[in-house]
This record gives sequence, C-alpha cells and structure tokens, in this order.
Amino acid sequence: MSAPASSERIYDLLVVGGGVNGTGIARDACGRGASVLLVEQDDLASYTSSSSTKLIHGGLRYLEYYEFRLVREALMERERLLTMAPHIMWPLRFVLPHSKLVRPAWMLKAGLFLYDHLASNMTLPKSIGVDFRKHSSGRALKPEYTKGFIYSDGWVQDSRLVVLNAMDAAERGADVRVRTRLIAAQRVNGQWVATLENRATGETQTVRAKAMVNAAGPWVARLLADTLKIPNSKSVRLVKGSHIIVPRVYEGPQAYIFQNPDKRIVFAIPYEQKFTLIGTTDIPWKEEPGKVGIAPDEVTYLCESVNRYLNVQVHESDVVWSYAGLRPLYDDASANASAVTRDYVLDLDTQDGAPLLSIFGGKITTSRKLAEHALEKLAPVLPAVGGQSWTASEVLPGGDIGEGGFDGALARLRRVAPWLPEGLAWRLMRNYGSRAYEIIGQADAMEGMGELLGGDLTTGEVDYLMDREWARTAEDVLWRRSKLGLHLNDAEKTRVETYVQKKAV
Ligand SMILES: Cc1cc2nc3c(=O)[nH]c(=O)nc-3n(C[C@H](O)[C@H](O)[C@H](O)COP(=O)(O)OP(=O)(O)OC[C@H]3O[C@@H](n4cnc5c(N)ncnc54)[C@H](O)[C@@H]3O)c2cc1C
Repeated sequence: MSAPASSERIYDLLVVGGGVNGTGIARDACGRGASVLLVEQDDLASYTSSSSTKLIHGGLRYLEYYEFRLVREALMERERLLTMAPHIMWPLRFVLPHSKLVRPAWMLKAGLFLYDHLASNMTLPKSIGVDFRKHSSGRALKPEYTKGFIYSDGWVQDSRLVVLNAMDAAERGADVRVRTRLIAAQRVNGQWVATLENRATGETQTVRAKAMVNAAGPWVARLLADTLKIPNSKSVRLVKGSHIIVPRVYEGPQAYIFQNPDKRIVFAIPYEQKFTLIGTTDIPWKEEPGKVGIAPDEVTYLCESVNRYLNVQVHESDVVWSYAGLRPLYDDASANASAVTRDYVLDLDTQDGAPLLSIFGGKITTSRKLAEHALEKLAPVLPAVGGQSWTASEVLPGGDIGEGGFDGALARLRRVAPWLPEGLAWRLMRNYGSRAYEIIGQADAMEGMGELLGGDLTTGEVDYLMDREWARTAEDVLWRRSKLGLHLNDAEKTRVETYVQKKAV
C-alpha cells in the first residue's frame, strides 16, 4: 500500500462528526477565527441528527427527572433558535390530554407552570387549561378525554439545521469533507496527526491539527477506544428511538402529547402537510452503532399509544415510512432507558499538549449552547478559539428572511417570482429561506429552473443541493436535504437518482 498523501497545512481544529454537535462546534470555532477541518464519514446528519422527533423543546418530561439545568438551558435556546433560522424552525402548540390513570392534573399544571417560568426570555404563548368539549383540538380526541392543557414548544427540520451549520462554517472558512472517515490519529510533538479515508475513492490522506473534537455521536466511545486507543472512563448508553409516518389522522396545526400507562409519552405531530409523525420509543441498544430500523413491536406500541386517545384509529398497515436513530446518551448508570440523562458532558483530555474534547450526549435544541461550552473549555489550551461567543445573535444561512417573518418573506418571494407555483414557492421558502433566491437565480419562468424531475423538484434545485449543500446521492436529496422522498413516486425517485449520478461523475 502506498503512503498516504499528506497536507502541509496545520488546522487549529479537526472536528470528527458531521451531526448537529460537530457542525455547531465547527461553525462557532470558525466565527472565532480558528481554521477548522470537519470530517463526516457519510452524509451530513446521516445518523442521529436526522432521526430525532424534530422538537425544539425544553423537554417537559425531563422535569420529572429533576433535570432543571437542562430544561432551563433548552428553553432559553428554544427562543434563540427560533430567531436564528425562522425558515426551518417554527413554534408549535402541544395539546396534552389529562388521563387520570397516568398523572394527576395538579402535577401537569405544576409542571407546565415551571415550564412557562424557567426561562426568562419566553416569547411564545404560555400554557392554558382547556375543555375539549368546547375547544377545537378536542375534536380529534375520544369523548372520554374532556380536560387537558395546551403549551408551546418548537419544531425544527433537524437535518437542515445541520446543513446550515456546515454552510455557515464553510462560508467562514471551514474545510468541510463528507464521505471522509477518520481512521487513525496520534499525538506527535504536541499536534494531532490524523489519517483520513475518502470513502468514495478509498484514498487516504494525513492531516495535522492542534486540537481535535470527537463529536462522533453514537461512535464517541468507539472512536476513543478503537481509533485513537485512548482509555476513557466515560461511556455512552445507546438508546434506539423510532418514529412512524402515516397519512394525516387529524386536522389542525397542533401537535398532541399522549401519556402512556408505562409513564412514557408519545407525540403525534403534523408532518409534511399530508402526514402525521408519531414517536418515539426508548429501546436499549447493545449492538454496534450504524443504521437502525424500527421493529414490528415498536410499530404496534406507537399505534396503540395514539389509538388510546384519537378518534381515528391508526393501523400498522397505514405506515408509509418510518425511521429510527440511536441516542448517544451519557451513561449515568440509570436503570431505565427513559430515565438516562439527556444532558451532555464534555470531556477534555490535554495529555501531551494536543487537546482532545469528546462530546457525550446532547440535544438538537442545546447544540448551539453545547458548542459555546465546548469552545470555552478548549480556549485555555487552544487560543485560536479564545474569541468572544457570537452565535446567539447571528442568523444561519437563509435565516435573514426580513420583516413579517415567514409569511412576509413568502409574500415577497411570490411578488418577485409570480410564476412560481404556490406550493413550490412555499417549499423553497421553508427549506432555504432567503437562499431561495439563489436557487431561482436568473430564471423568469419555471423553464429557467431546469428540468422537472418529479413533483416540483427541478434540476436547478438539485444542482444547488449538490453544489452548495454537499448532497452526493439521491438519498441525500430526498431524505435529508428535503423530505421529498415522501411525496415522489418510484419513477420520479429513479429520475432523481439518474440525474444525481450523472452530475456526480
Ligand atoms: C429518537 C430520537 C429523538 C430525538 N428527539 C429530539 C428532539 O425532539 N429534540 C432534540 O433537541 N433532540 C432530540 N434528539 C437528540 C438529538 O437528535 C441528538 O442529541 C443529536 O442529534 C446528536 O447529534 P450528534 O452530532 O452528537 O450525533 P450524530 O448526529 O450521530 O453525528 C455524529 C456523526 O459522526 C460521524 N462519525 C462517527 N465516526 C466518525 C469517524 N470516524 N469519522 C468521521 N465521521 C464519523 C457519524 O457518521 C455521524 O454523522 C433525539 C434523538 C433520537 C435518537
């Protein structure tokens, strides 16, 4: 085997992992002036960061486990994130029916009071008590559910948040490499010398960096033990969570949070206009990390969870798509998978002068704050990231949508490009915000957007995803940059595949 090619450049920071935590840290570090290389073994957000319930939330149920620090931080972040990328995140109202078999009403009321008051910056509507016999959200519920509550949280297109972090990092100078795996690294004379494998070509390259961040999510402990050969006392608990998608089972923009007799909760959320997203589960995972799928008993459990409450019954045969992911939770030795802490732990190892920071746990919601904490921790040993924190007030790419919020931005787009079909204008604004204008370019009619591949997906949009957002395969386009996989038929998906393959050559 020939020796790996070597790059002379010495990066300040090598970030391993293109999930929400790795891309968030890369973005923050670049904004502080550091030179950053981010490597992701597959596509951005291939694993946990595209498999979440997609909530920007404090985590109402974590109050039961006394996770006040986490809930407060997450609630504060919820408000910040909603202004950073208002195109891909939006507020949602959650309907919580009271079931006397699970928790008493006073407990729900007390929890929601705390939820409304833990964060000092709350702008979303506060919680209210409702009588479902009179309130429109009660129409979807079985008649025995007469009382409950409605509270606020937020929604995020999780994999798009990851891509926007990566775009912002790249626009601030980061070198972002997808399909690139860290296969070995050693500390040599106070620096990291790392071997990277390009998974498309099989070629390897060595790179140097002053510090490394291990944001490998489910692989965090394996990267330490197997790739870096560094002993570490901290470990992760992998807990699988799965979701099903069914044709829409109720009307209205509200989400529902249902309490199960096992004390767990399951959400039903409006999804991609025509569907309802139902999840999630908590299944301990003892095998290797990687792609995971939903098991038949999880589908049954999720159907039963919503059928206990909804008028319209959901059957296993209604499921049009499902996805599952592994939570890389910090192992706090809890006996029960649902009770393991959702908080994060940052472990800094400064042996031999080449720092290594490993990330255990975390939420999509707290990823921006986690990045800030990570860089604060690194700053004393890596002066390049010692600058001021800055991400709390800077929008993500496309987030500068201007006055009037999303509706105002959509109305302006429709005035500028009245020839765009209404649904496409909406979708472009929802996914790309102000960057929608980059996709439209000089076009003054649909023909100018390129060939139609299926639904309203044009070659112009796919070009943008491949040129600007690191999409390399049809799956990247259909399931992570967008959820068009739910809307296109098999023949249309094949056309996307053919186009992407031809362009990728
Ligand atoms: C079912 C479920 C529901 C959830 N719901 C929510 C929610 O509603 N709200 C919320 O805030 N959070 C939620 N979360 C939590 C959230 O999704 C995770 O905390 C977060 O996505 C973890 O991101 P990460 O970057 O640490 O990991 P990942 O997204 O898994 O990223 C790690 C990346 O590292 C890469 N990698 C690993 N090894 C290497 C290597 N050697 N070289 C290069 N790359 C490598 C992997 O390919 C992977 O892409 C949920 C999680 C699950 C599983």
